[in-house]
Amino acid sequence: MRIIAYLLFLFLFQAFNLPGLFASDLIIKRGNQSAKIPSINLRGTEYVATSQLAKILGVNYYFNPSREKSEIKFNDYNLKFTANNQFVILTAKKSNQHQIFQLPISAKLRKGDVYIPIKYSVKYLSYASGLKTSYSEESNRVTIVTTKVNAKELVKWNETLVDRSSIKYDIFSAKIENKSNGTLLRLATKGKIRKPSSSISNNTLYIFFSDISIDKNEISKLNVRGFIRHITVKHVNGNPQMEIKLREGYEKYEVFYDDEIGEILVSIHNKLLKNESSNDDEIEKWKFDIIVLDAGHGGKDPGAIGLNGVKEKDINLAVVRELGSLIEKNVKNLKVVYTRDDDKFVELYKRGKIANESKGNLFISVHCNSTPRKPSNARGFEVYLLRPGRTKEAIDIAEFENSVISLEEDASRYKQLNDENFILVSMAHASNMRYSETFADMLNTEWIKQVGVPSRGIKQAGFYVLVGASMPSILIETGFISNKNDVKYLNSRSGQKEIAKSIFNSIFKYKNYYETSLNTELDK
Ligand SMILES: [Zn+2]
Repeated sequence: MRIIAYLLFLFLFQAFNLPGLFASDLIIKRGNQSAKIPSINLRGTEYVATSQLAKILGVNYYFNPSREKSEIKFNDYNLKFTANNQFVILTAKKSNQHQIFQLPISAKLRKGDVYIPIKYSVKYLSYASGLKTSYSEESNRVTIVTTKVNAKELVKWNETLVDRSSIKYDIFSAKIENKSNGTLLRLATKGKIRKPSSSISNNTLYIFFSDISIDKNEISKLNVRGFIRHITVKHVNGNPQMEIKLREGYEKYEVFYDDEIGEILVSIHNKLLKNESSNDDEIEKWKFDIIVLDAGHGGKDPGAIGLNGVKEKDINLAVVRELGSLIEKNVKNLKVVYTRDDDKFVELYKRGKIANESKGNLFISVHCNSTPRKPSNARGFEVYLLRPGRTKEAIDIAEFENSVISLEEDASRYKQLNDENFILVSMAHASNMRYSETFADMLNTEWIKQVGVPSRGIKQAGFYVLVGASMPSILIETGFISNKNDVKYLNSRSGQKEIAKSIFNSIFKYKNYYETSLNTELDK
């Protein structure tokens, strides 16, 4: 079952290079017809590729790879999204006028496509298409009805067309708009300019331009409002510098230059915008109250086959059940979530999905090791962290555990893991790694104390079941079912009970550690 030693696989989809994302279907319903396009769930928000959306809506689409922008072209309006950016630009084709909106979270880039958070984007699709468009989160469905939407009325187009050829200044006009999520300063540019840099200190936002002229008159005429208290333009070493005095209460700011529409957008966000992790969520995180137990393999996937035909999946399940009932009996306020609690097949990506949806605090995946040749002398317990495999042996083990995807219906959702991908994965897991390491350490200590399978220590390799879980996570190889001693122990009720007990003890210790350490951090 060991394929090519180097090959690891990464748990992901045709879409993102980030873990913790799951592919699902977005249903687009228009009149009596409906169609599906894939969507991706990132932290509870569904994202959809603008190219696929345009295709299904039967309109043109344009992607600019160097600017990472995509534009959906409807009859009268174009709608532009930019990767890693919250701005949405609606352009009226006839007058070439623009309306600027802001999503509460950024659009994302993946594989030459801009992915947009659909629930926040449908409103703008309505404006641009002229058809009432809504989204249901429950059914992950976009519904388009033929009720006409008049974007002109909805978004109040009151701009007049500007003839840019007769303009003297590089920045020739400015306006301030109040938005539900903050204040937007729009600076119109005559031609292409260099993107300004910016910094903020003492409630003053500085924007540094180089080699351009600014119509100071336009700036002084501005009717300041929202977070903007006052704007002045100064010249420092011959370069203009804009100083924007801000009112208290803003959360962050963003300076964005869109050279296609010729505008610099300065957005000062209010606190509402910080919705990717609200304060309530932050507080909830400090409690250790949900543990996810993952019995490896199951159903049509037996896992490794050991001596006397012992199946890995059965041992994994027995240990997990024993462990789960120990927790349920002995620890109050710690909920156990199982990725499977019977002999059924569960895809690897679904295991992470279950863990993430249950908002688990710790993910433990239980497996057994084996050697190709049986019987063999290799024996012992190992606990694995998700990091690039260091040894050929570790890589081989991960490969075996990952090879189960060949039994899944859509193996294409998993992408091969190369060094570059692993950097992204590691980054995404970095905040959890300290906790994963601590737990692994506690488990190893408990294991040595009481389990009749010797420890081979803490190791690392690329298991995709761990990639999918956005929480501290470890994978346990309880022992070798290809070894006479280990298999006897692992396949016995008493052995399984001892293993469960040692994992249980380490969870109990870890829970105290976790809650204490996080609460100490909070007090700082
Ligand atoms: Zn396994």
